[in-house]
Amino acid sequence: MNRIKIEKKYQIALNDLISSLRDSGFLNDYNVENAFRNIPRHEFVQTSELDRAYYNEPLSIMKNQTISQPGVVSRMTEWLDIKNGQKILEIGTGSAWQTAILSYLAGTGTVYSVERHPELVKFARENLEKFKLDNTHVILGDGSLGYPQASPYDRIIITAACTEIPLPLLEQLSENGLIIAPVGDSSQSLVLLKKTSGGIVKIKNESHYVFVPLLGKFGKKV
Ligand code: SAH
Repeated sequence: MNRIKIEKKYQIALNDLISSLRDSGFLNDYNVENAFRNIPRHEFVQTSELDRAYYNEPLSIMKNQTISQPGVVSRMTEWLDIKNGQKILEIGTGSAWQTAILSYLAGTGTVYSVERHPELVKFARENLEKFKLDNTHVILGDGSLGYPQASPYDRIIITAACTEIPLPLLEQLSENGLIIAPVGDSSQSLVLLKKTSGGIVKIKNESHYVFVPLLGKFGKKV
C-alpha cells in the first residue's frame, strides 16, 4: 500500500473529525481510526467538495450518488469487526472510500466491491489506484446478485438502502460470517446479521439512517 502524505489543512480537519466522532460514540476502535488516518477521505471526493471532505456529512459524487457520511462509515466498519486475512464483499462502491478502509483492515485478505454505474467504477478505480491497494477488485454489475464467483465471504457490507436483504447475499455469506446493511424504505435501520449453523441471527440494529436506494434485480426496480 502507498502511504499518502496529508497536507496540514486536511490533517487538522481530519483530527477534528476523529475527535468529534470519538466524542459522539461513532468511533471507538483504534484500528478503524488508523484506517481513517491512512485512507484520507479528501482523496475520494470531487474537487468541488474538497473543502467539505472532513465534514461529518455525505457529499455528492457522480450520478446522484453520495460518498457516505464518516460517522456512518465508522459505525458500519466497527460493527463488521474485520480481521486480517478475511474475504469481504461490498455492494455499492461509489467513491471507494469505504472499499479502501475495508481493504486496509483486511490486510492480507481481499475485498470485492460491486458498483452498477460504469462512471463510478472508473472513479473508484482511479481513487484506489493512488493507494496501490492491490487486494481490491471493483466489479461493474448488479450487486443485488452479489458476486458468486468469489463466494463465500467472511463479511458483506451493503452501502445502499434495501427493503430487505437480497437473498443471494445471504447465500454468499460463509458460516459464522457477518453482513451489515441499511434496511427500510424512506428511513433505514442499520442491521448486523450473523449466519450460524442454525440460520440467520440478528446481532445489532440501530434506526434513523438514510442511504440512497439499492437498485437491481433483488433491490428496488429501476
Ligand atoms: N460506500 C460508498 C457509498 C456510495 S452510495 C461511498 O462511500 O462512496 C451507494 C452506491 O450503491 C452508489 O454508488 C450506487 O450507484 C450503488 N448501487 C445502488 N444499487 C446498486 C446495485 N444493485 N449494484 C451495485 N451498486 C449499486
